[in-house]
Amino acid sequence: MATKRDYYEVLGVDKNASEQEIKSAFRQLAKKYHPDVNKASDAEAKFKEIQEAYAVLSDTNRRKQYDQFGHAAFNQGTGGGFGGFDFSDFDFSDIFSEIFGGGFGFNFGRSNRPDRPRRGRDSIMRMNITFNEAVFGTKKVINLNILDVCDECHQKGGHGEKTCSKCHGSGYITQEQRSLLGVYMTRSECPQCDGKGKTYDKVCSKCRGSGTVRVNKDLTITVPAGIDTGNQLRLQGKGEAGTNGGPNGDIYIEFSVSNHEIFIRDDNNIYLELPITITEAALGAKKEIPTLYGNVNLIIPEGSESGDKHRLKGRGVPDVNTNRKGDMFVVLKVVFPKRLSREQRLLLEKLAATNLDRDNIISNFKRHISK
Ligand SMILES: [Zn+2]
Ligand SMILES: [Zn+2]
Repeated sequence: MATKRDYYEVLGVDKNASEQEIKSAFRQLAKKYHPDVNKASDAEAKFKEIQEAYAVLSDTNRRKQYDQFGHAAFNQGTGGGFGGFDFSDFDFSDIFSEIFGGGFGFNFGRSNRPDRPRRGRDSIMRMNITFNEAVFGTKKVINLNILDVCDECHQKGGHGEKTCSKCHGSGYITQEQRSLLGVYMTRSECPQCDGKGKTYDKVCSKCRGSGTVRVNKDLTITVPAGIDTGNQLRLQGKGEAGTNGGPNGDIYIEFSVSNHEIFIRDDNNIYLELPITITEAALGAKKEIPTLYGNVNLIIPEGSESGDKHRLKGRGVPDVNTNRKGDMFVVLKVVFPKRLSREQRLLLEKLAATNLDRDNIISNFKRHISK
């Protein structure tokens, strides 16, 4: 399988490129590789590649998806493989008329007819998940209230399809207009079929001719392990129905992950603050500590201090893309007793009378003061 080129690389821009930079990079490459202009054998493939890159990077949502998940962002539910983003219904008409002028006269399987297929709208949903659900992944049921394809008429809006008798299926009528300057032709949407080019014997009773109906349905989604706050999951084709046979829009789920009682997450690493007593710090200790994957024993060496960090490799959160686990860091916090019993006080006083400051740092510090 050929590796798919990075979209930023395809357009020759860097990851922080502005919308304007992306647009102008695309404009230059489109001029260069348009198959009508460039007769090289690989021009068409190149042109497709830059179109695909532009369709993703020019859209804030898709770009965010891509930045997070790479090409994998657009393979959810498509059975794997690196098909990349399907841009067949992306509307290039504005930018192409900007680049080539309105009269350039080509289109990419899309016409400007009013009955052209239109893709359904995308929507975004926010979802709260717990810390553990985010770490281990989960399944969630979401309730959707969206416009879906009418199953009664299969999106046509009626039964008994006929070619419109007024426009003969073009969706347009051309009329002669006379003015003082002479005769000219105007073209407008056919009033009999509303530009569809087709009429129906009977309007669909379920959708009243619109081809779409509002439905309320539940959808089960798989939340991958490693999701973090702000991550988005794209559910391709699960959004609002298109019109005139256009594909459905997408649903984006944006996650918000709740905090854990004791673990703090930073990207794929986990931090745990571990309180220890002064004697444990001084003498060393063996402590049983919780991790995401069960308890482990941690050896605290003698002479430990607050802020000392112990790394537990591979006990962090799995990466949402690679599944590689981050690390866990145990950060010690020496807790001093607030109240001492008589006995403890006596013991500490005895301890204080011993030569505790033989440590170089402390004696060096003392030397400074006595000068
Ligand atoms: Zn219908
Ligand atoms: Zn018509």
